[in-house]
Amino acid sequence: MSQDINVGSHIWVEDPELAWIDGIVINTNGAEAEIQTSDVRTVTAKLSKLYPKDVEAPAGGVDDMTKLSYLHEPAVLYNLATRYEINEIYTYCGNILIAINPFRELSHLYDVYLMERYKGAQLGELKPHVFAIADVAYRAMINEGKSNSIMVSGESGAGKTETTKMLMRYLAYLGGHAAAEGRTVERKVLESNPVLEAFGNAKTVRNNNSSRFGKFVEIQFDERGQISGAAIRTYLLEKSRVCQISDPERNYHCFYLLCAAPLEEAIFRVVAAILHLGNITFARGEEDSSILQDDKSKFHLQMTAELLMCDSQALEVALCKRVMITPEEIIKRSLDPLGATVSRDGLAKTIYSRLFDWLVNKINVSIGQDPHSKCLIGVLDIYGFESFKTNSFEQFCINFTNEKLQQHFNQHVFKMEQALYKSEEIDWSYVEFVDNQDVLDLIEKKPGGIISLLDEACMFPKSTHETFAQKLYQTFKDHRRFVKPKLARSEFTVVHYAGEVQYQSDQFLDKNKDYVVPEYQDMLSASKCSFVAGLFPLLPEETAKSGKFSSIGSRFKLQLQQLMDILNSTEPHYIRCIKPNNELKPEIFENVNVLQQLRSGGVLEAIRVKCEGFPTHRTFTEFLNRFATLAPEILEGNYEENVACKWIMEKMGLSRYQMGKTKIFLRAGHMSELDARKAKV
Ligand code: ATP
Ligand code: MG
Repeated sequence: MSQDINVGSHIWVEDPELAWIDGIVINTNGAEAEIQTSDVRTVTAKLSKLYPKDVEAPAGGVDDMTKLSYLHEPAVLYNLATRYEINEIYTYCGNILIAINPFRELSHLYDVYLMERYKGAQLGELKPHVFAIADVAYRAMINEGKSNSIMVSGESGAGKTETTKMLMRYLAYLGGHAAAEGRTVERKVLESNPVLEAFGNAKTVRNNNSSRFGKFVEIQFDERGQISGAAIRTYLLEKSRVCQISDPERNYHCFYLLCAAPLEEAIFRVVAAILHLGNITFARGEEDSSILQDDKSKFHLQMTAELLMCDSQALEVALCKRVMITPEEIIKRSLDPLGATVSRDGLAKTIYSRLFDWLVNKINVSIGQDPHSKCLIGVLDIYGFESFKTNSFEQFCINFTNEKLQQHFNQHVFKMEQALYKSEEIDWSYVEFVDNQDVLDLIEKKPGGIISLLDEACMFPKSTHETFAQKLYQTFKDHRRFVKPKLARSEFTVVHYAGEVQYQSDQFLDKNKDYVVPEYQDMLSASKCSFVAGLFPLLPEETAKSGKFSSIGSRFKLQLQQLMDILNSTEPHYIRCIKPNNELKPEIFENVNVLQQLRSGGVLEAIRVKCEGFPTHRTFTEFLNRFATLAPEILEGNYEENVACKWIMEKMGLSRYQMGKTKIFLRAGHMSELDARKAKV
């Protein structure tokens, strides 16, 4: 990048606080440059670390990154920041939509009037928008008879769920039925959102309305393009939230809704039962046993049993004792107060997750599936890459999901570039493509991957998280995506595409076991409330007896594979949501934070792929408008446009560009070189 940078050049230089800051080179000394930054400081930096700044860039930024004359990290960041300042929260990067959370109502952006305008408009004709993406997906489905999917990703609080709701509203608008038709499918689909949010969303430090589950909504269409059915699939509900919440976070919304307005219905019996269950506390009884702490606990036990319509005696025994089956005998062992508390929480988690699954199923039945539908549009609202101070099994599964989606994304981005080059009939064979298959192998390979080894550890009664970690260290000691942290006894690090994440393995084994204590199962399936009993159907004798191990990790892997199979059979579209700050406030755009998200969302990788090839394309006319002054002689002759373009490139001594059918394709750096030469004319 440095050959066209010299004294007087407008450049971008790295800055510890702002990530990048613009400035002018005031001096060069060998490989070093002295720069005056726009906030009037003098800094020095390596010439090779500077990026040229496009002084001709339009003041309000460009609505598509591919229109940037210099496509590089600082230009991308600056473009987004400039647009965000004037409330332009949407920007394309080719056909990826970047959406930056405004953290304020922009209601004019989503009204019916605007929906009408986006209907049938070409992508790029109007301002970037979620409606435009939904419209493209819908048209593609109608015209090509192929299913489409829209994948919405981003970190917690970035705006995925809001975006998803907007997409669904727009699709319902396009594929809806006349109002006279009563409670239509599309109404039911839209109405499912608040219900799922009540049971699956909660307030967290990152988002006041955080979805604690992943969601894939499959909207089915008939041959007339009308919505004819829908199916909702959910992934990995965060069960632990039912019993562990630290201020200022909260439990699932439904618990508070219940307190605010007690409702009839069997569902709320169960929610109320979980609330009472959580209030039962234990004290130490004789020897290592536990008893109910006080009269209050006795009251809550009574209430729980009444609400669940099961025997209170049986509930107390199930909470405080555990049946152990050894080869020799069956013994009833007492749990100490801590054990009983863990047992109580396990019960609450199990009931809640069964309730959630029931709810999703109920919604699906009520909306109804269209068995004849040939085309669908899938909308995926799923947690983004997570890297916290402590990362457990949940983060592991979430990041595994993101690796999968990233691979899908990479392949797609690469294919799109390839298609563009093909349509312009240019040679692109040397574009490198980075694959993350090696991380996926590390995680999911069967046998031998982390999930397999975890299952093995779970089945072997003597293993602990430490033996599991040792096994990982041993197996992956030479794997380039696996690191044993210094002094680690049970932590391990995976080098994900979006960065390194250190996992604490101590709860991996417990969290991977998908196991309902038989005492609970028996007690609840015998409930006199048919709703409760229905949540715990009796298992076939053999399955129950064999105690066959079922693992959350493996089941999730399978679910994920099924999701990928659906996605692979669709034409994908991507929306990357960005959270501009952690204060959840409008008007604050934190550069370093945003860059990190552009990296984990694969946007920077997509740009890298572009830069490896020909990041800048201009129609011959556009090119000549900008650079004809470099070769005034061409204005005199009557040259074909493409010949004139070639003439200029050759005169400037630039090679490795390519001529397409309608456009000239430039390598990274060509544009800035041409601009630099133009400035000297
Ligand atoms: P999580 O992963 O925690 O579920 P998320 O990405 O789904 O997070 P949302 O719940 O969609 O995040 O958005 C968080 C909040 O940001 C919303 O409650 C809303 O206040 C605000 N927000 C998001 N998108 C928009 C938008 N387009 N316009 C106005 N406000 C928005
Ligand atoms: Mg959400």
